[in-house]
Amino acid sequence: MSTTAQHAFTRRAFLQALLLGGTMAALAFHARLLHAQDQNDDDSDRETVVIIGAGAAGIAAGAYLQAEGYKVILLEARDRIGGRVLTDRTLASHPVELGAEFVHGDNVITWDLADEYGLASREIGDEAELYLFTSQGVLSPDQWANIDGINLIDDDELDRLAESWYEEEDSDLSLAELLDEHEIDLDPDVRKLLNNDMASDYGADLKDLGVLGFIEQSYEGDDSEYDGQLADGYTPLLEAMSENLEIRLNKIVNYVEWDDEGAIVYTEDDDQIEADYVIVTLPLGVLQAGDVEFDPPLPDDKQEAIDALGAGHVDKIILKFSEPFWEINFAVIATIQDTQIWWRPGYGREDEASILTALVGGDAAKRFEAMSEAEVITAALRDLEAIFQVQNLRDKLVEGRFINWGGDRFSKMGYSYVPVDGSEYREVLAESVGSLYFAGEATHMERAATVHGAIESGWRAADEIMEM
Ligand SMILES: Cc1cc2nc3c(=O)[nH]c(=O)nc-3n(C[C@H](O)[C@H](O)[C@H](O)COP(=O)(O)OP(=O)(O)OC[C@H]3O[C@@H](n4cnc5c(N)ncnc54)[C@H](O)[C@@H]3O)c2cc1C
Repeated sequence: MSTTAQHAFTRRAFLQALLLGGTMAALAFHARLLHAQDQNDDDSDRETVVIIGAGAAGIAAGAYLQAEGYKVILLEARDRIGGRVLTDRTLASHPVELGAEFVHGDNVITWDLADEYGLASREIGDEAELYLFTSQGVLSPDQWANIDGINLIDDDELDRLAESWYEEEDSDLSLAELLDEHEIDLDPDVRKLLNNDMASDYGADLKDLGVLGFIEQSYEGDDSEYDGQLADGYTPLLEAMSENLEIRLNKIVNYVEWDDEGAIVYTEDDDQIEADYVIVTLPLGVLQAGDVEFDPPLPDDKQEAIDALGAGHVDKIILKFSEPFWEINFAVIATIQDTQIWWRPGYGREDEASILTALVGGDAAKRFEAMSEAEVITAALRDLEAIFQVQNLRDKLVEGRFINWGGDRFSKMGYSYVPVDGSEYREVLAESVGSLYFAGEATHMERAATVHGAIESGWRAADEIMEM
């Protein structure tokens, strides 16, 4: 298959490329240190680490440090753990993921963790079940590739173009400009599919993604293009990892006083907690909004990195129907519409509920975020009616949800991306300053925008504290 179709479903295809050499081997070691010990009562000579945020990064850092004997306290603004990991158990008899859904790669640390905690995994549909919706209707990838006169983009082409730019030039430009630079005249549908693929995968459109950042996030590791799932959902993994951790929920941190010796972390409800070290795992969007004040302010280069990186908008639309109305046995449909890509979250399960999920990123996500939930659902139903050539889908709608991560006070984003001239800022974002340490998906040079990247970033920050 040589259309964007393959590209559309192999998020990590681009990331197979080279350059930065992963830290995975070093980090894999930490899989052995997962079981946070019970905090014992004698805190007198233990150093205290306060972790802001109980998402994947915060929990991973906390479990590791507690196992190493530190006194660990996690402060979480929400009334639940998990952050951008949120498995719903109410919509269907099987889990439905409202945030992170897939484990990208067959060698990533998530599988080791799943083994450690006895969590089952499951495969998802292969390419045979992947379809495209174009102005010519629903096409199988083979049908699409066989249409005469259409200007196809090879699935590795963007990758090759980006690499050759990286090797030959010392300036940055957007992926859209890169295509223009090479005078690649794409069929409008192909261009739209490519853009939608990148937007849902990276949280930004081709015009907003920098070539150098795109290369930076490519790595030599062997994560592979495999996408799998935790059979019972992502939340159970974080629940297992956070067992025995002291997590204080509904604690909205709004002020951090810090210096080289330690910090005091303040919450909206007037708590203040002293710490020897603080790990900040706030989402980039929250950092950019300045919701937490640092005193003294973060150094200029740190603030510059926060401002320079992209907090990508990525949302989900989840529609539950009274019965399936699709006649093709698709797992995924990539589309030229604003809803970008649809899949069946229960695909392959015996108890599959009639639910469809759309993943929407970039400018399309921002357009949806500007609408009411009812308007989003109406627009999504309209898109599905066009794809499947059916009418009055609303009559079959049981429940519709718009999961607006961009509008969520405690994420303000979907996942991070590197805009033009933004490369190398992830490293600056990750650097510690005084008693403050930084983790979270946006701080990972190679595996940003993933759960396993967030976990690894937590371990990296924990390592830095242990080296002190
Ligand atoms: C729609 C969507 C789909 C995704 N799909 C995938 C996927 O298929 N596979 C994959 O690997 N990744 C996916 N991701 C990305 C993945 O979810 C994230 O990279 C990862 O969960 C980020 O973890 P984190 O710990 O860095 O941040 P978060 O999970 O955001 O954790 C940060 C925590 O800080 C808390 N917080 C915020 N403000 C405050 C405050 N003032 N005080 C205290 N606490 C605060 C938040 O509530 C949150 O719990 C997806 C993300 C989205 C949004």
